[in-house]
Amino acid sequence: MYWASVCCSGTIAVLPLSLLLLLTMLLTRLLNACHHIPGFVYEGARLCEATQSIEIDVRPRKGSKPICSCCSQPARGYDTLAQRRFEFIPVWGFAVFLLYTMRRVDCRDCGVKVEALPWANGKHTLSRAYMLFLAQWARKLSWKETAQSFRTSWEKVFNAVE
Ligand SMILES: [Zn+2]
Repeated sequence: MYWASVCCSGTIAVLPLSLLLLLTMLLTRLLNACHHIPGFVYEGARLCEATQSIEIDVRPRKGSKPICSCCSQPARGYDTLAQRRFEFIPVWGFAVFLLYTMRRVDCRDCGVKVEALPWANGKHTLSRAYMLFLAQWARKLSWKETAQSFRTSWEKVFNAVE
């Protein structure tokens, strides 16, 4: 658990440590219980007051094999790529990002390919859960209102609806 670690902007949240610990524990527990991703675990969360966001680390579950994005079959791990950020459904007015270090696989049929992720499509920076969330709201509100309500951009709402 990284309740006192440094977030993306380099600032440590100044909430009391006990509250911060409780918040991050609650959030990671909730996600592991309610938004379980097979083969992966949510490991820790950091609150970043400067950017009004929460960063959550995601890592592969021990022993789980990565899935080839080309043929959707499990494959041997090859190496890892840079960490990516995937925007998740906002919580308590904070933007939420899943942070994950992508793996590449050495697939017997396809060669070296990037792994498939169950929570995001291709190069999208929005998680599937957040896309679905935005798309549902975009049916009730205009795309502009949806973007404003969830402090995101019109383009992201557009991508979610597509
Ligand atoms: Zn493959």
